[in-house]
Amino acid sequence: MSTYDVAVIGSGPGGYVAAIRCAQLGMKTAIIEKYSTLGGTCLNVGCIPSKALLDSSHHYEDAVKHFEAHGIEVPGEVKVNLEKMIARKQSVVDQTTGGIDFLMKKNKIDVYQGLGSFKDATHITINGEETTEIEAKNTIIATGSKPSTLPFITIDKERIITSTEALKLKEIPKHLIVIGGGVIGLELGQVYKRLGAEVSVVEFMDRIIPTMDASLSKELNKVLKKQKFKINASHKVKSVERVGDEVIVKADNKKGEEVEFRGDYCLVSVGRRPYTDGLNAEAAGVKLTDRGQIEVNDHLQTNVPNIYAIGDVVRGAMLAHKAEEEGVMVAELLAGQKPHIDYNLIPGVVYTWPEVAAVGKTEEELKEAGTKYKVGQFPMRALGRARASTDIDGFVKILADADTDEVLGVHMVGARVADLISEAVTAMEFRASAEDIARMSHAHPTYAEAVKEAALAATEDRPLHI
Ligand SMILES: Cc1cc2nc3c(=O)[nH]c(=O)nc-3n(C[C@H](O)[C@H](O)[C@H](O)COP(=O)(O)OP(=O)(O)OC[C@H]3O[C@@H](n4cnc5c(N)ncnc54)[C@H](O)[C@@H]3O)c2cc1C
Repeated sequence: MSTYDVAVIGSGPGGYVAAIRCAQLGMKTAIIEKYSTLGGTCLNVGCIPSKALLDSSHHYEDAVKHFEAHGIEVPGEVKVNLEKMIARKQSVVDQTTGGIDFLMKKNKIDVYQGLGSFKDATHITINGEETTEIEAKNTIIATGSKPSTLPFITIDKERIITSTEALKLKEIPKHLIVIGGGVIGLELGQVYKRLGAEVSVVEFMDRIIPTMDASLSKELNKVLKKQKFKINASHKVKSVERVGDEVIVKADNKKGEEVEFRGDYCLVSVGRRPYTDGLNAEAAGVKLTDRGQIEVNDHLQTNVPNIYAIGDVVRGAMLAHKAEEEGVMVAELLAGQKPHIDYNLIPGVVYTWPEVAAVGKTEEELKEAGTKYKVGQFPMRALGRARASTDIDGFVKILADADTDEVLGVHMVGARVADLISEAVTAMEFRASAEDIARMSHAHPTYAEAVKEAALAATEDRPLHI
């Protein structure tokens, strides 16, 4: 039987990054993955394929709607070849997961393909093509999450689907009903909207992207309505029924009246649940929370001292980069280091167009905590760069402490803000004031100038270009 310093169960961004960092720190490492490809949800059916389809559909929309304004004439009709678009997405996925195979070899990590189940706290059985058992001094559980649903919905994977099926549809829906106005629903909704589907979003809360700063939700709502999304907030879905090729969704609106939506596809994107099926955590004595997450302390250690858990299977935001940071943290803890994650500085991004990005506290959180703060906001439309590309929707908003000027939160909607948010994370990591950002040179013309201008506005209400 092979013995390891560390065994990692699950090869998503939490697991494979943890394995690499363990190997870098000199630990003999194994990784166990039940699927035939490495990379987990993120690389196979999450972050990467969704962005590949968002990019392809964006090109199509530009060709159909925006080329003309740039003086580009396309002879004949611009058409979508969905099969080819999905195949390109798959080749991006294949290249990316293949890259993880390379990284495992490079770092001399043993890869086991099969379902990892605890036999006890130091032994794991791997049920793959054959059954293997390994011994591990330490184990990192990184088994991730699966799409969740509502108790009365049956996901048939044909017409009533989750994000996994939405990434490989064989036809463009005529009317896609999206249940849940969070990140995944809006991103995939936008893919099919751009390709020609009618899209109706049905959201239980009173606004889309409800966990983000309310101003971002309002701006995105406005832009999506311009794009002819039908957004139905404060709607409680009570039934989803398939009749032939039609899906009928019934919901109660704010006034308690029944509303009916009829479409040919229904994407259920109401969140994700932690995944521990088949792990046999109880054999190792590992405790789960009431919500099915693996229970961990501040060091991501379970109640069993040599077993840790990271990523979507534990508390906190279900984000790839959060899982990665946790993977690094556990590896470094095992090596005797004292790493730390500031969860307040994990950015959140929505890859619609315009993009939405945020880090730190929202205005709602600051108000609730009774913190005195200043607001500096700058609209994208005032930037030369935004006008050059005609991406004029959105703004950058900086929240700074009213007394010390320290940046407490940064919230953005606009072109490429998924990339711009890194500047805010860097600034906050080094506890910058709004004036520190305002005094840094920002290349002209860039979208990043909106960050400088918002910082000037937050500092002493002295933006230069508005
Ligand atoms: C459509 C979609 C888009 C997304 N877009 C983004 C985005 O843009 N940015 C972002 O940050 N996040 C995004 N996410 C979320 C992101 O994918 C997850 O937060 C991330 O994958 C979590 O990583 P993880 O390592 O915890 O788990 P996962 O990526 O879920 O990986 C867990 C792995 O463990 C394996 N496994 C489970 N149990 C066992 C077992 N017993 N034995 C062996 N293997 C096992 C699973 O097969 C899986 O491969 C998206 C998710 C979806 C669904």
